[in-house]
Amino acid sequence: MTPEEQLYAIVEQGLCIGCGLCQAVAGKDTIEVVKTTTGVERPIVVGELDQATVDQIYDTCPGVRVEGLPEALIEEDTKVDNVWGPWRRIVKAWAADPDIRHQGSTGGVMSALGTYLLKSKQVGFVLHVKASTTNPTFGEPHISFTEADIMEGAGSRYGPTPPLLDIKSVLDRGQPFAFFAKPCDVAGLRNYARHDPRVDKLVKFTVAMVCGGYGAPSTTEGFLDHIGMKMDELTAFRYRGFGCPGPTRAEAGEKVEEAHYLDYWGEDESMWGLPFRCKVCPDGIGEACDLAVSDTWIGGSPNRIDSETDLGENGVIARTKAGEDLLATAEKSGFLTIERDITPDHMSIYQPHQMRKKYAAWARHQGLREAGQLAPVTSRLRIEELSSELFDGTNDAQRRGTVERVKIGKASESAPEKVV
Ligand SMILES: Cc1cc2nc3c(=O)[nH]c(=O)nc-3n(C[C@H](O)[C@H](O)[C@H](O)COP(=O)(O)OP(=O)(O)OC[C@H]3O[C@@H](n4cnc5c(N)ncnc54)[C@H](O)[C@@H]3O)c2cc1C
Ligand code: SF4
Ligand code: SF4
Repeated sequence: MTPEEQLYAIVEQGLCIGCGLCQAVAGKDTIEVVKTTTGVERPIVVGELDQATVDQIYDTCPGVRVEGLPEALIEEDTKVDNVWGPWRRIVKAWAADPDIRHQGSTGGVMSALGTYLLKSKQVGFVLHVKASTTNPTFGEPHISFTEADIMEGAGSRYGPTPPLLDIKSVLDRGQPFAFFAKPCDVAGLRNYARHDPRVDKLVKFTVAMVCGGYGAPSTTEGFLDHIGMKMDELTAFRYRGFGCPGPTRAEAGEKVEEAHYLDYWGEDESMWGLPFRCKVCPDGIGEACDLAVSDTWIGGSPNRIDSETDLGENGVIARTKAGEDLLATAEKSGFLTIERDITPDHMSIYQPHQMRKKYAAWARHQGLREAGQLAPVTSRLRIEELSSELFDGTNDAQRRGTVERVKIGKASESAPEKVV
C-alpha cells in the first residue's frame, strides 16, 4: 500500500474519529482534516505524504492506538478497578457558581475547573473546544484565557470536533496549559507525547468527559428533520447545557426550535446513532487523564420529567495525584462543590453502557482482526482480562457480530472526499 492508501485505510475501515492530529503531525500542506462528503471531518491528502510521516500517524492516531494511564502516573496507592481503571478518589460534584453549573453540560465541573486553573494561574490557557463558527453542529478547537472564554466552550458538542488540529502551534506558545477533551483526543495527545517532548513539559492537566460516542451525521440530520429545520439554514446549534441536560436548541436567524436531549439521542442506548469507531471504543472513560467527568443519571440516560428540575451533578474520577490535588484545591478555593465520595460501583450504575462496552471491546477487536480489518492497538486498558470474565458464548456473539458488521459494510466509510 502507498502511504496515502495506508492513511485512508484508517478512515475506510471505520476507525477515524476526526481528532485532527494527523493534520498537525503531517502539516496542513500535506494533510487537511476537513468536512468530507460523508458529513464528518476526515483527513485528505493534499501534498506528498511519505512513509515516515504515515508511520508516525499510525503511532499517534487515537483511532488505531489507545493506551491507558502512563505507568509513571500510577502511584503505589492508586487503586485500579477492572472496568473503571486507575482511581484515587471518585466524587459527586458540581460547579459552586450557579451560573457555571446551569450553563455547563451536566453540573459545570469542567468549566469550573478551567476557570479555577486560569484564575489560580496554574496554567496560561485551556485548550478545549467550542461550537464551530462555520458548521454550527460541529465543534472547533478553542483556546481560553479567561472565564468568559471558558464559558464560550461550555456544553457538550456531539457533532464532529477536532481538538488536536493545531496542537503543534498550541505547543509553540511555550506556555503551560490544560487540555479538556474526549478520551480519544487525550489518548491521541498522550501518543503524540512520544514524538514531541513539549507535551509532557507543557500539558499540566488533562481532563476528559466520560464519552459514549459522538453523533453520526445521520443522527443530527434525523433530529433536524424531526424539528423541521435543515442543516444548511442553521446559524447556531446547542446540543445541551443551560440545564441538565438542557434543551437541544437550533437557530436559523429568527427561527428557534428547542427539543429534549432524548429527541436527539432516542429514549435508550439501543437508539444511539454512533459512528463505528465509537462502537468498538476501548476507552470511553478517560483512562489516560488526570480527571474524568461524567453524568450521574441512573441507567445512563435522563428522563423527561426529572430534566425539568435537574440542576446537574457530575461524577468525577481522579486518576492521578495531580487530578486528586486539583479536585481538593478547586473545592477549597470555592470553585467546586463536592457532595460526597462515591465508588466504581456507582459509576457502573450511572454508566451501564460504558461497563458493557468495556467488557465487549476485546471480542469486538478480535472480530475486526478475523475479518481482515484494522483494530485499535491497546495497552493498559485490561480489555482482554475483562473479556476473559465473560462466558465464551458472549464473547463469540460479540466477535461474530463484528465480523457480520464488516461483511455488510457497517464498519466502513467511503474514501474521504472534500466537500467543495
Ligand atoms: C461526544 C460526547 C459523548 C458523551 N457521552 C457521555 C457518556 O456516555 N456518559 C457521560 O456521563 N457523559 C457523557 N458525555 C459528557 C457529558 O455530556 C458532559 O460533557 C460531562 O459530564 C461534563 O459535564 P460538565 O457540565 O462538567 O461540562 P461543561 O462544564 O459544559 O464543559 C464541557 C467541556 O467539554 C468540552 N467539550 C465539549 N464537547 C466536546 C467534544 N466533542 N470534544 C472535545 N471537547 C468537548 C468543552 O469545550 C468544555 O470545556 C459526553 C460528551 C460528549 C461531548
Ligand atoms: S483519528 Fe485523528 S489522527 Fe487518526 S486519521 Fe482520524 S483525524 Fe487523523
Ligand atoms: S466513544 Fe471513544 S472513540 Fe468515540 S468519541 Fe468517545 S472516546 Fe472517542
